[in-house]
Amino acid sequence: MAIEAVFFDGEYARDRAITLDVQGNDLVFSGQDVPQTRWSISGLHPVDPPSPGQPFRITHHSKPGARLVIRDEAFVHRLVAEHKHLKGGYSWTHLKQVAVWTAGGILAIAALGYVLVSFLPQRVAFVLPETWRDRVGGQVVDGLVGKAKRCNTPAGDSAKSAMIAALAEGNTDLPPLSMEVYDMDLVNAFAAPGGKIIFTKGILAKADGPDEIAGVLAHEIGHVAHRHPETQLVRLTGIQVLISVMSGTNGGDFTSNVAALAALLRYSRDAEREADTYARQTMDKANINPMGLRTFFEKMIKDEGGAAPAAKDSSALDTLGNVFSTHPGTEDRIKQITPLPDGRTPAQVLTPEQWKSLQSICG
Ligand SMILES: [Zn+2]
Repeated sequence: MAIEAVFFDGEYARDRAITLDVQGNDLVFSGQDVPQTRWSISGLHPVDPPSPGQPFRITHHSKPGARLVIRDEAFVHRLVAEHKHLKGGYSWTHLKQVAVWTAGGILAIAALGYVLVSFLPQRVAFVLPETWRDRVGGQVVDGLVGKAKRCNTPAGDSAKSAMIAALAEGNTDLPPLSMEVYDMDLVNAFAAPGGKIIFTKGILAKADGPDEIAGVLAHEIGHVAHRHPETQLVRLTGIQVLISVMSGTNGGDFTSNVAALAALLRYSRDAEREADTYARQTMDKANINPMGLRTFFEKMIKDEGGAAPAAKDSSALDTLGNVFSTHPGTEDRIKQITPLPDGRTPAQVLTPEQWKSLQSICG
């Protein structure tokens, strides 16, 4: 039995009166400006679930923008009773379509993520959220220092701040960073994600003056500025980094895996060159004697022959060895370090008292 209804074609904002009937498995309708149209009932979707007193609005998969608006409640009741998928919510067909599209979308995002982490890890490193860098950086530090005590004294902390301030002089673009000293005999320094720079007690003891530590610090800030720790993390854990960012977790067991953490800090020679260049430019602008970095490295080569000392504290950092195992290519690198130009008097990085306080920060 034909009824009156309204049709929107989805292209013009005009409703057209039509006559509508069911013929077999189709809805058939036509009107003054509407040629006879057949919509299969199986292809119909309710725009909203049918509701008493409300016009029933349906569309068809062949013309998703078009609408039929039916006010005849008896007709709607009969139609919906015979074709349950019109009850609203989602039909299985629709759900399957949604699932296919969603899976396709996830695959596309995963593929994009895979390409990014595989071919552009440093780009990814620069878009990682600060909160994530900070959290994962903290986990990396905890994993590396093991049970070693973090050293803080009021005078030592103020000396650290003075050293960072000396490097910030003339360098307004230093990345956000923190510097901590841990009570470990190993001679090393490293940068973890989130600008966390770690020095061991051993490296402070090895240094003959604040210029040497300032040089090492400038080098580590170079790693921070280039996001080398984050880049390594992206390289080593791949897509896990993105999953971890999106899910708010720490990226699996990575940060509790000592071998993986050790690999994290073994930079490429290119990364070392980038950090060195950054250090030289930063010291130049801050008017800090770059020869401190050079004499420190030369001393390390002479004393240790570049070999890593045996592990003592069984922390991950001990398995890493000294500065040479984490910052490779030292011998050719140090030749690049030259004094400040003639006529420039280098700034005093720390007073003798401040230097003493820093060296004795672990008691
Ligand atoms: Zn380095």
